[in-house]
This record gives sequence, C-alpha cells and structure tokens, in this order.
Amino acid sequence: LEPRIPGFVPLFSTWESFYTRHVFRRVSDVLCKPVGGVPAARMDLVYRETHDYGWTYELNKDRIDTVLNMGSYNYLGFSENKGPCKDNAARVTKDYGISTFGSRQELGILDIHKQLDDLVAEFLGVEAAITVPMGFATNSMNMPCLVSKGCLILSDELNHASLVLGSRLTGATIKTFKHNNMQSLEKRLRDAVIHGKPRTHRPWKKILIVVEGVYSMEGSIVKLPEIIRLKKLYKAYLYLDEAHSIGAMGPRGRGVVDYFGLDPKEIDIMMGTFTKSFGSAGGYIGGSKRLINHLRVNSHVSVYAPTMPPPIAQQVITSMTIIMGKDGTNEGKKRIQQLKWNCRYFRRNLHERGYIIYGNKDSPVVPLLLFMPTKLAAFSRECVRRGLGVVVVGFPATPITKTRARFCLSAAHTKADIDEALKIIEEVGDLIRLRYSKMPVPSF
Ligand code: PMP
Repeated sequence: LEPRIPGFVPLFSTWESFYTRHVFRRVSDVLCKPVGGVPAARMDLVYRETHDYGWTYELNKDRIDTVLNMGSYNYLGFSENKGPCKDNAARVTKDYGISTFGSRQELGILDIHKQLDDLVAEFLGVEAAITVPMGFATNSMNMPCLVSKGCLILSDELNHASLVLGSRLTGATIKTFKHNNMQSLEKRLRDAVIHGKPRTHRPWKKILIVVEGVYSMEGSIVKLPEIIRLKKLYKAYLYLDEAHSIGAMGPRGRGVVDYFGLDPKEIDIMMGTFTKSFGSAGGYIGGSKRLINHLRVNSHVSVYAPTMPPPIAQQVITSMTIIMGKDGTNEGKKRIQQLKWNCRYFRRNLHERGYIIYGNKDSPVVPLLLFMPTKLAAFSRECVRRGLGVVVVGFPATPITKTRARFCLSAAHTKADIDEALKIIEEVGDLIRLRYSKMPVPSF
C-alpha cells in the first residue's frame, strides 16, 4: 500500500504515458445490483475486469460485496424502486409502451413530452424548454445550433466532455479560462474585443461563455453573479450546464440560480440533465421561446433522434412534481433539506479528521484528495472490503498528482449511513496514510 512515485518532475510525462497505458486502462468493470429497493443506500457489487488489450475476463465472479453506495449521482434519492415514481412509471409503461419510434419531427411527440417540456419551463422559471433523451447529446448536439465559425467560445478549463465535444462541433474558435477564475475570464473577454474597448467593435459574431453549475470532479460552485456581470459588460451569451446542481442546489432545488437567488432570465441558455437529481435519464435546454423554437427546428437531436421513452419522461414528471411540492406533500422540501444537512455533516467530519477535500460546503460532490496515483486502487479496494462503494478518479480525468476519491451524497443516506462511511474512511485513511493535515475546520 505504500506510495511509490518517481521523484523527478521531468520524468512525469513519460511516466504519465506509462501510467495511462498500463495502469489506468485496466478498468474494473463492476456490475451493480440494488439491494432492498433503494440503490442510493446499498448495492451488490459483482466483479469483472476489462483488460486493455481487448479481452474481458471475469475476476472473482463468485464474490459479491454488499456496500453502502456513495458513488452514484442519486442526489435526491429518486432513483428508487418504490413509491409514486415507480408506480407512475409502471402505469405509463402499460399505457404507452417503451418506445416512441420517432423523432420530434416524425410523429414522436406524445402528450407526455409536451407535459414534460411545459413542466421543465415552469420549474426553471423560463419561457420555454425542450427535452432530449440523453444528457450528453443535449450539450453536444444543441451547441452546434447556437454558435458557428466566426464565433468565440470561452470555456471553463474543467468543463465536461459533452461540452467540450459540443464546442468542437460548432466550428467556433474555442479558448479556455482557468477554472472558476474571474480574472482569467475577464482577461479572455478583454482580449476578445479590440483594444479593450468593450461594446464598440469586435471581430466575433457572438461570444458564448460556457460554464457548469457544480463541477463534478471538484465539487466547486460556479461564481454565477460575477459571470453574469461580465457577460453583460462584454455583451456575451451565457450557457450554463446544471447537470449536477439542478434539484440538488438552492432552497427550492432549482439549481445554482436558486442558490444565488438570481433571476433565471439572466441566463441565456440553461441546460441540465435528469440523470442525477431526478433518478431518470435525458436532458433539457430552457430559455426564451425564440431560442427553444430555433432548437426544435434546427437541432440534430430534435430532428433525427427519437424522443424520450414515456416511462423515463414520467419519472421526471413525478420527481419534479414532488420537488415543486405540487403533489400536496412536503416530501420534496424534506429531501432537499436532508441532502443539504448530509453534505455539511459529511464535509465537516472529513475536515475534522484531517483530510483534504475540495469544493463548496453545499455541494453534493465531495472529492477527497488521495494525491498519489498508487493510493487509488488501494483506497477503493479497502473501502469495498469494509462495505463502502466509492468512485476513485485519476489521470487523465484529473492531474496525475491530484488523484482523488469522489463521494456523492444523497438524501437517501441516513445519519447512520454517513457515520458508517466516516468510520470506514478513517480506518482506510490510516492504513494508507491519508491524514495529511490538521487544518482549521471551516465554520458551517
Ligand atoms: N453535463 C455534465 C456537467 C455532466 O457531468 C454530465 C454527465 N455526468 C453530462 C452533462 C451528461 O449527462 P448524462 O449522463 O445525463 O448523459
């Protein structure tokens, strides 16, 4: 378990390629099976291993570990196989079947899709919304309809792969700015307008700033008020991906816009996915009627891809209705509050135990720094051995010396679950020497 890392910085690039080829590519392919109806809380792991030379072989296939799941994006616990979500999805499956067999332009729109589009627009507080069967495609297929050659995209350096792909498909010039760094963004904006004279003359048809609400590898929250100020000053458009924040952030679960108490109309293009807080699949874009009509007609995913399967759409409708309190219960509010409490409790306890963690106190993503790539497999193996399922992330997804374990909290976790997880982390942390510091505990 001891870290062994080459000591010379110049060796790093060679070592990185060695690491990518021989270590990282040997991905563990774990089959997960929910236990007791709530995947957020417990699940069985069955092991297989995929080898990078193209063979797959089973490893320990008789071994099954039941673990506490702290790796899935099930923020509000709606990915459950009981309660109204399951019942409604089962009813819709009976009534509508599974597929729609057509795109929006080819008789693929059912009343349930219209209902979903309208509900999402109401939830976000915008004029209109369009829903898409896949979150990744929501970014990668819609972005090319928004900007093109001759435009400039200013993208946070840690943006998700779907945003990077979408940006590249536009044909626009792409420049990155340092993660969540407003000086860096402003410098890019200043450089984009001639001789630092905003609003006079500039060589770009449009400037689009692309950011996320909560960053899934960092747990950081976008500095939205500042970005809105800059985008107004430099006459740019703002594209906000709320995949990890919609449902999970803000007193009403309406994402970072709600968290900062801002007017949703300040954001030109609001994007999000249903895979995380809503326990479903797919994504949406919300904004002005003009924007959404433009996407309906021009977006490849609207024209060529089939619409969302009806039970998937129904899952979003039911969970969103609960979050909005339209079901006449307090369930949505309770889940939002439970998630917030869980996030702060877990973070505070990790701080107190001397671990180095990233991110904002209210973020449901909690990255715990392992630093050494050699600790990555050891941490996950020893956690699973003790009953904690966790995702570990290393190069190339993170810089090589910033290897980390990424915990995702859920409203479905109880205080007892979190205490159990903390006990396991402490045991494993001591085993692989993770307590780097006794840092002052931030107050929250
Ligand atoms: N945007 C961001 C920021 C994401 O993290 C992800 C996936 N985790 C996506 C888009 C793609 O969403 P989906 O998994 O629903 O396809």
